[in-house]
Amino acid sequence: MRQFPRKPDDRYWRVEFMFPKPLLAAMLAALSLLPGIAHAQAAEGYAYYETGDIDAPAPRAPSLGLLLIGGSEWSEPAWRWFAGKTGGGHLVILRASQDGSDGEWLMKHIGGLASVQTLVFSNREAAFDPRVADILANADGIFIAGGDQSKYVRFWKGTPVAEALNAHVAAGRPLGGTSAGLAILGGTGYGAMAPAAVDSPEALADPKGAKVTLVSDFLATPFLANVITDTHFSERERLGRLVAFVAQARAAGNADAIGLGIDEDTALAVEADGSARLYTTSGGHAWLVRPLGVPEFQDDGALDWASVELTGIGPQSRVDLARMSVANPAFAGTARVEAGQLRDVPMPPERREWSLAIHGGSGVIERGDITPEMEAAYRASLQAALAAGSEVLENGGSSLDAVEATLRILEDDPLFNAGRGAVFDAEGRNQLDASIMDGKTLNAGAVAGVSSTKHPVTLARAVMSNSRHVLLSGEGADQFAREQGVEQVDPAWFRTEHRWRQIEEWRKDNLSALALDPTHRFGTVGAVALDRDGNLAAATSTGGLTGKRWGRIGDSPIIGAGTYAANGKCAVSGTGTGEYFIRENAGRQVCDRIAWNGQSIAQAADDTIASIGALGGDGGLIAMDAMGRIAFAMNTEGMYRGAASSDHPAEEAIYADETLTNED
Ligand code: ASP
Repeated sequence: MRQFPRKPDDRYWRVEFMFPKPLLAAMLAALSLLPGIAHAQAAEGYAYYETGDIDAPAPRAPSLGLLLIGGSEWSEPAWRWFAGKTGGGHLVILRASQDGSDGEWLMKHIGGLASVQTLVFSNREAAFDPRVADILANADGIFIAGGDQSKYVRFWKGTPVAEALNAHVAAGRPLGGTSAGLAILGGTGYGAMAPAAVDSPEALADPKGAKVTLVSDFLATPFLANVITDTHFSERERLGRLVAFVAQARAAGNADAIGLGIDEDTALAVEADGSARLYTTSGGHAWLVRPLGVPEFQDDGALDWASVELTGIGPQSRVDLARMSVANPAFAGTARVEAGQLRDVPMPPERREWSLAIHGGSGVIERGDITPEMEAAYRASLQAALAAGSEVLENGGSSLDAVEATLRILEDDPLFNAGRGAVFDAEGRNQLDASIMDGKTLNAGAVAGVSSTKHPVTLARAVMSNSRHVLLSGEGADQFAREQGVEQVDPAWFRTEHRWRQIEEWRKDNLSALALDPTHRFGTVGAVALDRDGNLAAATSTGGLTGKRWGRIGDSPIIGAGTYAANGKCAVSGTGTGEYFIRENAGRQVCDRIAWNGQSIAQAADDTIASIGALGGDGGLIAMDAMGRIAFAMNTEGMYRGAASSDHPAEEAIYADETLTNED
């Protein structure tokens, strides 16, 4: 995400402003610091910035792709995709305000580009400058920044710049735009040519009026010939005006006109064949707006339209812009317009402000197996862990902080098989495994077989944040903990009498006991959370299996098996026979079922446990989707578990037949 100020930032003039020819560069850079430079630029009609090596050969040929961004934050994965479409070559950013700082950001945070050149236009004459034509002709990718699209229309329509943009995509090179830069990419676009931008009520009251300034015959972008785009879509309640734009276009004779609105922080990445996928950093959508038939207008000009089909595109949707079809929409419905008023608008599912789910292990736990006192103790422990995580989330803390805080409580609690109270291995040692994953960045950290680190989940987080690696094991992991100042304890800290008795029983009956009695598996702990910023995270911590040998490592520290989190998809923590969770990639499987199959969180969780069961494995998992909806799935008689969210109080459960009020 872009962290730099949105305003023009003169840092780049002073520090990173560079020209290709060193001598000229030095002279111009010196000039640029003097007040006279503004005049010099105005005469030229544009300012030029570059970063990277504009003479470097592009590693690969560019290929067609469209990056359609709805304004505000830029999704890093979407930009990596676009950089790939340039073939790792030379990107040109066009704009009519601000400076070259986006180029600096792209080189620093995205990479995969040989150079970024930025042209900031201040008049129409600049569009006829041969150097501008040359820069555009050599671009491996072009991106049109945000700003004021009326300037783009006035400066570029009917000029060599428009010709160059059309030739660029016609030659199969990638093109993108955000905000004002996206507004002009459709075959018809809202040019914002009137003194003030039109809002939804004004546009619906008079779609053919003077404020609805549509522009056509400007750019010819593949797949968008009949598409009118709009941006900052939900944030600025622009559905009404986009319907009005489509109404004007249809009334003017374009019977196929439709609308495509894109929310802020959200990008639709369109492949050369028209297939597209959505990236969003904040749960945004793209909205396909397809009214049926012709619009009608009242005497005062207000719009009437009986059926306006709306299709919400989310990260899990599969879009085909060549056929204008959307498989697995995030939401869909039919709105209508009556006398300029929008009615029955289908809305995206609402995200919980925050949400938390935890588990404390699965296994054969039937009513009567534990004493009422023990049951009360387990329930109190689950509530204490929920309280710790909820406090973080309620106060606006991150989901990563919440899952870590929750697991630290459970690691300290001797009732659970993690940290203190962990099971013993065959040699009578506690060997601890843990992992954590950040759904926002897909960064992850894990440790296996640590024996002196008090909170393995905190060490996993240190691996994620402070090392180049994902998984550290054994003594090396404990050594890393010491170097990082992660709290160390005497290994005796983890020992509890209860677990010691278990290993002694196991020794008497050795492996047959394990095979016959799966109840030893109680107690792995895990948490998944969604925070107020819409970021998911997951973490798991365990002592593994009683009597484990030969450095056995289960699923808990395996990213994708015991733990997984990806924004827009899901967060998962598992517990059970780790060998099966590894083979089925349980955590990742749940998320892929959502992203690729369009399954609900509950179906995805159940089907994943079924696939583990089909191999002979047993256990359970907790899962949360991007909206904060929670699912628990298990094929055992019970799983210690609990949930709390911004709209539900904390609740805990033990037996399989218990249902929490906020589970899906
Ligand atoms: N899944 C853990 C492991 O295999 C054990 C458990 O969840 O009880 O190490």
